[in-house]
Amino acid sequence: MTNPDVQIRINGRAGHITLTRPQALNALNHDMCTAIEQALDAWRDDPAVHLIILDATGERAFCAGGDIAAMYNAGKAGDYDTPRSFWREEYRLNTKLAEYPKPIVSFLHGFVMGGGVGLGGHVSHRIVGESTQIAMPECGIGFVPDVGGTYRLALAPGRLGEYFGLTGARMGPAEAIRAGFADMFIPEADWPELKNALATTGKPSVLIPATPPESTLPEDDINALFAGEALQDILNTLRASDSEFAAKALKTLQRNSPLSMAATLEMIHRLRSPSLDIRKALELEYRVSHRIMEHGDFIEGVRAQIIDKDRTPTWKHALDKVPAVDVSLLLRPLGKEAWTFEETGMNIAFIGLGNMGGPMAANLIKAGHSVTGFDVAGTTVEGARVAASAAEAAKGADVVITMLPNGAILRAVAADVIPAMTPGAVLLDCSTVDVESARAVADLAAAAGLGALDAPVSGGIGGAAAGTLTFMVGGSDEAFAIAKPLFDIMGQKAVHCGPSGNGQAAKICNNMILGVTMIATCEAFALADKLGLDRQSMFDVVSTSSGYSWTMNAYCPAPGVGPNSPADNGYKPGFASELMLKDLGLSQQAAEAADADTPMGQRALELYKQFVEAEDGKGMDFSAMLPRFEKRGRG
Ligand code: NAD
Repeated sequence: MTNPDVQIRINGRAGHITLTRPQALNALNHDMCTAIEQALDAWRDDPAVHLIILDATGERAFCAGGDIAAMYNAGKAGDYDTPRSFWREEYRLNTKLAEYPKPIVSFLHGFVMGGGVGLGGHVSHRIVGESTQIAMPECGIGFVPDVGGTYRLALAPGRLGEYFGLTGARMGPAEAIRAGFADMFIPEADWPELKNALATTGKPSVLIPATPPESTLPEDDINALFAGEALQDILNTLRASDSEFAAKALKTLQRNSPLSMAATLEMIHRLRSPSLDIRKALELEYRVSHRIMEHGDFIEGVRAQIIDKDRTPTWKHALDKVPAVDVSLLLRPLGKEAWTFEETGMNIAFIGLGNMGGPMAANLIKAGHSVTGFDVAGTTVEGARVAASAAEAAKGADVVITMLPNGAILRAVAADVIPAMTPGAVLLDCSTVDVESARAVADLAAAAGLGALDAPVSGGIGGAAAGTLTFMVGGSDEAFAIAKPLFDIMGQKAVHCGPSGNGQAAKICNNMILGVTMIATCEAFALADKLGLDRQSMFDVVSTSSGYSWTMNAYCPAPGVGPNSPADNGYKPGFASELMLKDLGLSQQAAEAADADTPMGQRALELYKQFVEAEDGKGMDFSAMLPRFEKRGRG
């Protein structure tokens, strides 16, 4: 997968990640996060990669933050989920960087702010140079320091954390090292050679620190001025001081969001404990991120600073009047919405919420995944977000699942959703369609940098509801691995049958057997009737003798006999006869293309065709063949 905003390659013994979005000061967006995370995952156990180099192109910034404008646009449109899912993933990436088992060397030049600190500020070897300006300026846009920023701020010596967190002041190289945001100063002129040495040796021992320019930080003043318990205490102390430094700091605080500063201070104080780790900080930060669009100053702050640039935000609270309860409301636990490192929930789009798709989607929701649904018939599933179109549902999804009536509809839906999907996501079609359609859709998806799986199912609506379907899957190993946890929820078994189209091949062969055996089972029952053999005896014998089959034992077409089935419900589908006719048509189409002799499949097709088109079969379950045979004689 290629991403224009980040370059990922292996140089010698180093995995090398370079941010290549200098026109936006390398601001981090969702796709960049995904690409970096995938590289880290791939290199973790790759013996060829001894260490990782993380740097950025452009003179001005390593990374000046996250893509705030995109978050603002989503939040403004009432879509809080998109930014939330970005934050969740970004924080997972921050954790992986901080806890990575191999050395990561970040070269932090120019601006390193917010998201940039999350990327390069937690790794094992953080290099700063003459141009470095590190800051956590979030309170200025109505947010709080996140991406693990509060972790660094809470660990900073004295009251430096409070100072840098509330004011967003920039740290030069010496201040950054003092505050714990960086490890060593090396003149930037030496960096290119150093990167070569890292790649050649694979050893961070080639990094030799130089003496940074002197720090100008008035630490004693800061420790005295920022020691207050609450924002109000700090404001009072600053006002009472006649130092120039205090006046300047106060001026900054007067510009920033009062609610954000009060929350930031509370976060730093809560986190400052010996048991602190980055995950604790991120969990606390996410409580705020989750709520900040609705309950904080974020939208207004971004509007004023970044969108309209009028620099006159109307904050929710006056500087001296932030109610403690509003801070508590931002910081209270999120319950099951809480951020955890574990990748529990995927973003799933589900297109086609009919007899099968509806219960399959419901099972994914029950398992904790976030599902956005779309069905042309307007069908919805409890707990799923409703999208206005298939393309809208597919936007930002990790996996797009389709469960549609036929190949023509699948092709149309695929043409719609593929351009909306994020590269790297997987299009997972569970419908039963012809092999050619499955392969054509897979080709389209691959051309767009997506994974594709054809994964038709067996098990009917009972299996869909109970989560016991069998999936027959065609497609790549990588896409299969991504979808596997979903198969485990919706089914009891997923068989990887080979490349794209092979799932459908398995399915149509299976259903050819199913159609043939259903007819055989129904005609045998009708014959038994005429021979005076009661149906229960027939079932008792056949279900335990050599004539047993799924159609007899699990889906008995005789009402009142065997386990509950559509026969006990007036032959309401279940699996509609027209869908069986479709499947038999697919198997004959494939048999013809492959020059396979399938006389029983052909006869089953003719019988279902007659049943659906000329008799009463349409809209009936495919087991309604039994009442059809019942009524007939040999003529
Ligand atoms: P269904 O008709 O109940 O569901 C299909 C859904 O797709 C409908 O709700 C329909 O409104 C929706 N749809 C159609 N065109 C659409 C579009 N362009 N965009 C969005 N939604 C659209 O059928 P089903 O029984 O759920 O079967 C779905 C698929 O699963 C079929 O391919 C079928 O062969 C296969 N299948 C069904 C069973 C079964 O027992 N029902 C078993 C195995 C496989």
